[in-house]
Amino acid sequence: MKNYKEIKQLAEEAKKKEKEEKKFCRLCQKPETRSECSYGEKAWDRFAVPVKSVKKEEVELDEGAAWTRKSGQNKSGGLNEKGRKSYERENPGSDLKAPSKKVGNPRRKSFCARMKGMKAKLTSKKTSRDPDSRINKSLRAWNC
Ligand SMILES: [Zn+2]
Repeated sequence: MKNYKEIKQLAEEAKKKEKEEKKFCRLCQKPETRSECSYGEKAWDRFAVPVKSVKKEEVELDEGAAWTRKSGQNKSGGLNEKGRKSYERENPGSDLKAPSKKVGNPRRKSFCARMKGMKAKLTSKKTSRDPDSRINKSLRAWNC
């Protein structure tokens, strides 16, 4: 029969082993062990969750940048409601609205000017010729 000291030691080893187990850290956005967390072990204790419980979708949403991802974009290549919300979160005061196709709408005018500038300067020839590229879909949606 093991004595108390031995049992205690075994328990501590088991505990230590558990601590070294990788969990998904919601702060670092990656699986890591307690000692690897760049926010510190206490933060890891609070924010690390079992890797298996994390679905890919949730991870992407947690990053809060839905506007950069498929989940925040609508089929025509613009931002959907979720995308606009996440963009506004990251760019306070931006107050994005759904495109208004009305000619004479000043927001449309400045949007078209900005987008056309981007297309001319920043877009590859292949992308600017591709009718399904996000920039062309966007220009179409705004009736530029
Ligand atoms: Zn971490």
